[in-house]
Amino acid sequence: MEKSKKTSSYWSLSVQDTTELLVTDITDGLSEEEAAARLQKYGRNAIEHGRHLSKLRIVLNQFKSPLIIVLLIAGVVTLLIGHYKDSIFIFIAAVVNTILGFYQENKAENALAKLKTYLKQEARVMRNGEEKQIDAKDVVVGDIMLLSQGDRVQGDGRIVFVNDFQVDEAVLTGESLPVTKSAEPVAFSASISDQDSMVFAGTLVTQGYATVIVTDTGLQTELGKISSLLAISSSEQTPLQKAVYKFSIYSSIILGLLTLVVFVVGILVGYSPLDMFLTSVAIAVSAIPEGLPVSMTVILAVGVERMARRKGVVRKLVAAEALGGTTVILTDKTGTLTMAKMVMSQLISVAVPAKKLLSYALSNANAIVENPEDAPEKWRIDGRIMEAALVRAAASEGMSYKQILSKRKVLQSWPFNSSQKYSATLIKDGGRILLIVLGAPDVLIHYSQATAKQKKQLTEQISSLAFSGERVLGLASKEISDKEQLELLKKLTLNNLSFDGLITFKDPIRPGIKSAIARVARAGVKTVILTGDHQGTAVAVAEEIGLEMKEGSVLDASELTGLKKQQLQKRLPYLKVISRVTPFDKLQIAKLLQESGEVVAMTGDGINDAPSIKQANVGIAMGSGTEVAQSVADLVLLDDNFETIVAAIEEGRQIIGNIRKVLVYLLSNVTDGLILIGSSLLLGLPLPLNALQILWVNFFADSFPAVAFAFEKDGDHLSVPPRNPNAGLFDPLMKFLIIVIGFSTSALLSVLYFVLTRAGLEAELVRTFIFAAFGTYTLILAFSVRSLEQSIFSYPLLSNKYLNSGVLIGFVLMAAAIYLPPLQNLFGTKSLSAVWIGGVLMVGILNILLIELAKYFFRRRR
Ligand code: ADP
Ligand code: MG
Repeated sequence: MEKSKKTSSYWSLSVQDTTELLVTDITDGLSEEEAAARLQKYGRNAIEHGRHLSKLRIVLNQFKSPLIIVLLIAGVVTLLIGHYKDSIFIFIAAVVNTILGFYQENKAENALAKLKTYLKQEARVMRNGEEKQIDAKDVVVGDIMLLSQGDRVQGDGRIVFVNDFQVDEAVLTGESLPVTKSAEPVAFSASISDQDSMVFAGTLVTQGYATVIVTDTGLQTELGKISSLLAISSSEQTPLQKAVYKFSIYSSIILGLLTLVVFVVGILVGYSPLDMFLTSVAIAVSAIPEGLPVSMTVILAVGVERMARRKGVVRKLVAAEALGGTTVILTDKTGTLTMAKMVMSQLISVAVPAKKLLSYALSNANAIVENPEDAPEKWRIDGRIMEAALVRAAASEGMSYKQILSKRKVLQSWPFNSSQKYSATLIKDGGRILLIVLGAPDVLIHYSQATAKQKKQLTEQISSLAFSGERVLGLASKEISDKEQLELLKKLTLNNLSFDGLITFKDPIRPGIKSAIARVARAGVKTVILTGDHQGTAVAVAEEIGLEMKEGSVLDASELTGLKKQQLQKRLPYLKVISRVTPFDKLQIAKLLQESGEVVAMTGDGINDAPSIKQANVGIAMGSGTEVAQSVADLVLLDDNFETIVAAIEEGRQIIGNIRKVLVYLLSNVTDGLILIGSSLLLGLPLPLNALQILWVNFFADSFPAVAFAFEKDGDHLSVPPRNPNAGLFDPLMKFLIIVIGFSTSALLSVLYFVLTRAGLEAELVRTFIFAAFGTYTLILAFSVRSLEQSIFSYPLLSNKYLNSGVLIGFVLMAAAIYLPPLQNLFGTKSLSAVWIGGVLMVGILNILLIELAKYFFRRRR
């Protein structure tokens, strides 16, 4: 029997065999031509999450709604008893509602699908013997891929070389603890979680670095194979969505029962069962706040799309609302408040000459110049900002990064991390082995052999440099013996360093920051700088961006350990800068703030920031930061810019604002209709609107404006205090408005109806009038609800063109129902003369005035 040939069990093969099988070269990688050919042949390295809701599915979804089901039943019933006109209308209503629902859901779905495309994935590979950063989609089998801490693995690969390498494989195995990997082959029978010689696409590098040969890409990867399972994960609902969902279920049940009562009472009072059936259906349909959930989804989707266009990409919808409720922003300094365009200003030698200082520092830079052929000031550099700045500084001093690196052998390197605040490399320089340490100078002094007096003097020098706004790097080194080298390779320990010198940089603040800080401050959102940098540098930046520094505004993280929790809690409200923080400190500070009721937005970029990003109500990752940070973030800033946070908060508030408008609009209308119909039933009068008229108002008058609220974009959301999305659906103003609007209109219409009926006017004419007045008022109400706080005269009335067209369509359709003979027949309407129309307008205007009065009353009470 022929055994199936298994060529893909790379984990059990040697590196040598893997290399030969995949025809590649460990040191030089593939040639560009070969890579292009393979890309052509095997396709792009992408897992299409193309299975987002198909169009058909969205259509089918519409039929899950109780509203449509009620309508379909009513349509069938009227059809069976031969009331064809009614049934045709009801079916049209069902179709219109399906189309509208489809339009909205489809729009939301597209917006959310597009969000993913904003976040670009990249990979580092060797091509033609050079390290290159490429689009992850261009990775091919046989590529030599370089992985380091914080990266997302962009293809399955056989490990060639590791340095203290750990990977988080939770996406594949569900195991949340990082797995240590090695280049040693493992048994052929090993399962994925035991394939320690392999890395898998989609997993995250939590420690160290590695070189791998890419063995599978795209759908052939282990992630690709299960991606069909991952594609549709029911995304978590936002607090407001949950609240609306709950509200619509409860109200549907209550209204369902109420409708049943109306039905029974109506028959007892003497209406025909058919009339009562249609009326009950109409009441039920108009009373179920059916449009709410989908309106919310659209508002959220449109809102996050707007955020994305302003460079803030929301990864979790929940965050969109939380952003609107944010009360404190804990922000990074470098790159977020500053431009991250660090320019070297001074080389201060202490123990080695200035040039040497810079050349040593370069050993610790891990950066790729994307366009080395261009002049250094035009270089695009991948790598940590600080390290890129060093490479640039060296070039401006006429030193070539590449040349220097090629002359030295780097034996081992420990990348920078924000807990330790230094990086280190072990290099062979001439005949000597040197440990080079680069980092926060005050930290390095601590490990140096300088005397107490020297240390004090250095500390003062560093401090004065920092307070003048410079970012200060220290360099220290030490010659290493063979024995020490062995120990170091096991574990990095610093002692007896020689403090060689200081390198200082100027990092200008971003131009728009000052006004952004002022804008959020006005909005009741506090900004606190949490930085790994020196207190002096941080304070200088804080002052420059307009944070007012007083006594008690600054805290150095070194003081944190000495403070009791209560003491810190007392100081927190006054703090504006916390310096030399570690990621752990950030986590603690976020927790404390949350305990005192703040809604915290916090930035981070490194792998160590992941826990605090997770902890924050809105975790914000930098677009230039690690994949690990992005993978847990709620919001990714494509441009790393603080202004983008402010923009996102603004849009978050717009979202909450629009949700409130839709709630008030739809619910006041529901209340209205119920009271109007309920009161005439109780008074024993014929119904003021017939069933089809009720359905009409529900479908054509309020649906279009409700959709249009998603596109509302009113001026300054930052002038009101933040609103916590967990605080529940309705605030007092909303309740007040819903009730005032609901009662005032229905009372007015009921009275008019009563008077006109008593005056002996023709019933059909009176009904048409009530119908026209109710419809008109519903349509123009939308303009008044565009702001729940401001007076209708204070904003440009017609600035939402979606709303204008929605209202216009509503009016045209209503006129058709009143004036077109075939429709008159169907709706039981009569043409209204100019006098009646005047009356209709009067009612509308009177109502709007009442609502404006209510708004005014509430403004006054504030
Ligand atoms: P922040 O991002 O808040 O400005 P960091 O944590 O990046 O602060 O930096 C803290 C300190 O660590 C800096 O003041 C600098 O001295 C040092 N440092 C920053 N980046 C590097 C790096 N890549 N290599 C070595 N030292 C660094
Ligand atoms: Mg940083």
